[in-house]
Amino acid sequence: MAKLIDGKAVSASVRAQVAQEVAAMKEKGVTPGLAVVIVGDDPASRTYVNNKKKACAETGIYSEEYALPASTTQEELLELVRTLNGKPDIHGILVQSPLPKGLDEEAVIEEINPQKDVDAFHLQNVGRIMIGNFHFLPCTPAGVIELIRSQGIEIAGKSCVVIGRSNIVGKPMAMLLLHNNGTVTICHSKTKNLAAICREADILVAAVGRPKFVTEDMVKPGAVVIDVGMDRDENGKLCGDVDFAHVEPKAGYITPVPGGVGPMTIAMLLRNTITAAKLQSGLKD
Ligand code: NAP
Repeated sequence: MAKLIDGKAVSASVRAQVAQEVAAMKEKGVTPGLAVVIVGDDPASRTYVNNKKKACAETGIYSEEYALPASTTQEELLELVRTLNGKPDIHGILVQSPLPKGLDEEAVIEEINPQKDVDAFHLQNVGRIMIGNFHFLPCTPAGVIELIRSQGIEIAGKSCVVIGRSNIVGKPMAMLLLHNNGTVTICHSKTKNLAAICREADILVAAVGRPKFVTEDMVKPGAVVIDVGMDRDENGKLCGDVDFAHVEPKAGYITPVPGGVGPMTIAMLLRNTITAAKLQSGLKD
């Protein structure tokens, strides 16, 4: 039976550290500030934004919400980002994705001051991650590394397999495992012999977006299985990319969905906001 990696507990401890650090920064006259921009009325985005605002309030981070109608033009959105770039009380800017059709998300991200890009999606930050000289790490992959570390699991020298190569999860995930000296293989929809490659993994990260995609025959006994997926099963119930019921008895460690990677994403966003505030205010660690 696998040991369950409790994302809620790890996230709570990261948030507690964040709250302590925010209090110490306030004593030195700096209150970290995050602006969250939401365009349109996607219900899932609304939930994410509410959760982010709540997490800021709980940890003492100042936050502002900018809720714009779906009819917002590209220029109006860019103008807002420019205004936020110039606001000294705002250290982090997050534009909630997806944006409504017709808006160019990449152009909006490029407009964000890279030092305020707490999602780490700006090309400058992506490049920094590539060469290992970064300020921010993208929240979900950074959360995965934190979960692995929380169990005292060594990544160095391990065979790591990431299924998925998206710009927001798969690719940066692979890069972070590499920076931690893992031996990394990236799989995708054109990969041949996927199950055999996955069976070699000491650490298997699934970021596919397909419910219960990773089956028991794809997992090495004792492997660390990290499930990034947030999918719906045949009954519409939230589930992950891993067939938990069948994989769990074979794995060494496993993250549940919900309660695994999900809670870590916001915790890492809070941490990035602190980093941004330190960068911009010149405060040292
Ligand atoms: P995405 O952009 O759709 O990427 C999915 C990746 O999976 C692609 O690289 C794709 O390969 C690969 N793939 C699809 N079918 C495959 C197959 N049959 N065999 C092997 N690889 C296959 O998705 P994403 O944005 O990375 O998100 C992945 C999952 O993570 C989703 O469930 C999403 O909801 C979840 N997620 C969770 C969090 C969180 O906070 N927990 C955050 C972000 C995302 P190709 O490149 O060849 O098409």
